[in-house]
Amino acid sequence: MNAKSFNFDPEALGRKYQEERDKRVRVDGNDQYQEVTGEFAYFVEDPYINSELKREAIEEEVEVVIIGGGFGGMLAAARLREAGINDFRIIEKGGDFGGTWYWNRYPGASCDIESYVYFPLLENTGFVPKQKYTNAPETLEYCRVIAKKYALHDGALLQTLVTSTDWDESQGRWIVSTDRQDTLKARFVVHSNGPLNRPKLPAIKGISDFKGHTFHTSRWDYAYTGGDAYGGLTGLADKRVAVIGTGATAVQCVPHVGASAEHLYVFQRTPSSIDVRNNKPTDPNWMQEQAPGWHDERRRNFESIMVGGVVKEDLVSDGWTEAFRLLFGNLQDKAPSKARMALWALTSVASVERYKQGFKPYMTKKVTDYMDLAREMELADYQKMEGVRARADQVVEDEQTAEALKPYYRQFCKRPCFHDEYLPTFNLPNVSLVNTDGKGVDQITADGIIFNGKEYKVDCIIFATGFEVGTDYARRAGYQINGVAGQSISEKWADGLSTFHGMHTKGFPNAFFFGPAQSGFTATYTYSLDEQSVHLAHILTVAGEKGAKRIEASEIAEKAWVQTIIEKARLTADFQAKCTPGYYNNEGKGNAKPQNNMYGGGPIEFFGLMKKWRSKGDLKGLELS
Ligand code: NDP
Repeated sequence: MNAKSFNFDPEALGRKYQEERDKRVRVDGNDQYQEVTGEFAYFVEDPYINSELKREAIEEEVEVVIIGGGFGGMLAAARLREAGINDFRIIEKGGDFGGTWYWNRYPGASCDIESYVYFPLLENTGFVPKQKYTNAPETLEYCRVIAKKYALHDGALLQTLVTSTDWDESQGRWIVSTDRQDTLKARFVVHSNGPLNRPKLPAIKGISDFKGHTFHTSRWDYAYTGGDAYGGLTGLADKRVAVIGTGATAVQCVPHVGASAEHLYVFQRTPSSIDVRNNKPTDPNWMQEQAPGWHDERRRNFESIMVGGVVKEDLVSDGWTEAFRLLFGNLQDKAPSKARMALWALTSVASVERYKQGFKPYMTKKVTDYMDLAREMELADYQKMEGVRARADQVVEDEQTAEALKPYYRQFCKRPCFHDEYLPTFNLPNVSLVNTDGKGVDQITADGIIFNGKEYKVDCIIFATGFEVGTDYARRAGYQINGVAGQSISEKWADGLSTFHGMHTKGFPNAFFFGPAQSGFTATYTYSLDEQSVHLAHILTVAGEKGAKRIEASEIAEKAWVQTIIEKARLTADFQAKCTPGYYNNEGKGNAKPQNNMYGGGPIEFFGLMKKWRSKGDLKGLELS
């Protein structure tokens, strides 16, 4: 593959990407958003509970408290039950299990990671998802299937917000306090509070002046819009509606709002990449025919392709794997797996230049040997995105609108979207795209939204503006964690994350952290959570066998792990620096703290490392007493 064989000019595209990025970078970075507290607290109220639960406060001792009833908390509990550890309580702020899927019930909500990969424990539950890509109602139903199978409702404290967890050294227990005045003394606490759990609002001038109706997509107000997760939003028939934001959430709800509203204005700052979705029903026989172990093999196969691993067959074969096969395909014979993974991150010429100047990425072979291949990957990405941009031209009738909907950045700079109804929505006469060309809206007034001197009068503003990433851990979790000698987790991580395997941190004995930080992150997020759950169950089992009551990361092991994260984070630094801003790259500011990253070697390598660590059975790096 070389530049000459394309019908586009790679140099011109490179410049265009740079311009589009540069005009979006803001000095205020993450501070452009505001917390949903105070006058905005109503944005996070639970609209889905029928009646508020009434119960007495609880005071008790329990072996394990699991904070969070999303997939992470449910998997932790399921794997603990499998290991014979049953003395646990799950605390969840929502009215039921589901986490992300409990909150995100907006019309059209669905998952575009294949359901046969995304749904965990499929072989244990025997559940057959209806379609290749599931939707939010079915996912919530599946959460109930898991909850029933593992008796997770037993002892669960729903509609309960943890307010703090405090380590009591004399008792060797965490004191877990809640907004219902519960006091639980737990030996172990699992923090599975969700990386994208806290909705955020842009700090737009005049945002509190608006007199109409407003809500965030993660708290969809069906009482106002009518309809349900499948659409039919009859309450909007006589309403002028604004949707602010065009990320993965907006892409899914905009077609339904557009189909129902009197008029819909979509305020866009940066367009998403919208590829083909191609959903289809599940062949009922197919799952029955699968050999034991198929599920693990399938999700491993999927994630391997995503990091350039060599697989015999692409089992999932969809937009995700096609994109990665295109990126890595022509390299399969030329570069070993580790090099391909490095190249994935190193596909900018700037990186190669940096390498020449002495930058030493983690690789077994010299990067310069693969310089041409890095360039080829960049070209493959351009080619892929040219296809995505061409789709906007093919589908959207108005030329100017089609042009505005074209993303000019590398495909994995932002969350790629796969949708077949989003682009056609802009052909409806009652739908207008307001392209703010990277600027965002100027002001909100009592009656509407101002951009570029024009006021768009609306009855309702729907914020599809995403979730907090990169803010203080306790702020996102909604509670503080006070460890040994009262040190808080906010203090401990003020200068950057510091963990052992992403799960333990010194000074916080018997606390287990779930999530992508300093850990192996998968596009199939439930896969990472499942691996973390298996890991947790292993540690508690071995600690139990050894009679240990206190588990804490050793200083040396933690330092070494942080160093590993920093080394590997270098791989993605240049790629991220060239990307258009968003939560993937700290709003374009790059990561000043390279330890605030996921494990840069990719999830498959990380899972392998953890498996090897477990196989030794000595919990090396953890101090037991
Ligand atoms: P995102 O953070 O991805 O998107 C927020 C949107 O709001 C962006 O388009 C952003 O623009 C825009 N925005 C922010 N401030 C302003 C402003 N002042 N004016 C105009 N626009 C503004 O949040 P989402 O909820 O869409 O998605 C979050 C994540 O959830 C996804 O990345 C994905 O991981 C997951 N998800 C997955 C789905 C799936 O499986 N299909 C579906 C939905 C969510 P800009 O890009 O310029 O910052």
